[in-house]
Amino acid sequence: MEIQFFDLIDALPDGALVIGDDGIVLSANAAAREALQLEPKGLSATTVIRNSAFVAALASVRSTTRFANIDFEIHSRPPRQISAFVSRLGDGDQILVILRDLTREQALEKMRSDFVANASHEMRTPLASIMGTIETLQGPAKNDPKAREKFLSSMLGQAQRMKRLIDDLLTLSRIELNAHVRPSAKVSLVQIAHQARGNLQSLAKELSADVSVEGMGEMHVAGDSDELLQVAQNLLENAIKYGAAGGQIKVQCSAGTDGVTLAVQDFGRGIPEIHIPRLTERFYRVSNQESRARGGTGLGLAIVKHILLRHRSKLNIHSQEGLGSVFSFTIPSYKS
Ligand code: ADP
Repeated sequence: MEIQFFDLIDALPDGALVIGDDGIVLSANAAAREALQLEPKGLSATTVIRNSAFVAALASVRSTTRFANIDFEIHSRPPRQISAFVSRLGDGDQILVILRDLTREQALEKMRSDFVANASHEMRTPLASIMGTIETLQGPAKNDPKAREKFLSSMLGQAQRMKRLIDDLLTLSRIELNAHVRPSAKVSLVQIAHQARGNLQSLAKELSADVSVEGMGEMHVAGDSDELLQVAQNLLENAIKYGAAGGQIKVQCSAGTDGVTLAVQDFGRGIPEIHIPRLTERFYRVSNQESRARGGTGLGLAIVKHILLRHRSKLNIHSQEGLGSVFSFTIPSYKS
């Protein structure tokens, strides 16, 4: 079977344009239409891609070089980052342009580098404080036993903060490693709720929060018990840390057609609406100062989000300023 040149172009995963000797696009595949967000066939190539580097690449491929590689941005919404490979076809005057959409790749790269910058910044703050304290202990406070006690306990606090950060970062990377494996053990969400409450009893007492768990029966779901305990604990810990002013905190388990829902409700001051879509981003906090004062790493809800993703579930957040917040998720029931 003879394969037609244009069929070959159509089958390519990257965008492809064939440009005639008059500069008009003779053919464009589906990926090119998608990347450029128009039908390029019949239009002048330099109208389709309005970029001076592209115009120069076409001229140089026609006259001197055989190939040229250029990167440019298409000003669509959202803008797209394109890498183009321009090459002369055979000995003729026709030109093949391969377009590779790098938008997603570059966004991921930026997320990675932002993450490293944020994590380093979070780490550097307690480290700088520890170093400053050591210098004080070596110098002015050298022979002052009372000051030494105070500085050592502040150093311990900062070191514990670094440890929490490292633990949370490791937890996140472990969950991401297993992101595609769906957990399937039989787990009772009611038991998880009681366990979370037990583990956080002393914090609740310290901040005068009264935590109640509601839910009848076992309510089994398909999941990973350690991870679901971590989710319930992170949500309850946040409710106690940020919503305790409301006094009461309710953890409710209920069974429905989609599975079992666990909801943690506080009656604290709530969260302004603009922050809600960003709460599960790594290191995002409504107030940096308050989160740090309460020993927060800013990673708790990112961990919750990733564990729930693994369980094919998602976190729902409803909050009203002055009235409190409800964080909930639903997991399919366990089927034997
Ligand atoms: P952190 O370590 O700072 O607690 P999280 O990712 O767990 O990090 O939470 C992110 C931010 O969301 C918190 O810093 C806080 O500002 C806000 N938040 C989370 N839960 C609540 C809540 N129940 N009430 C009010 N604000 C909350």
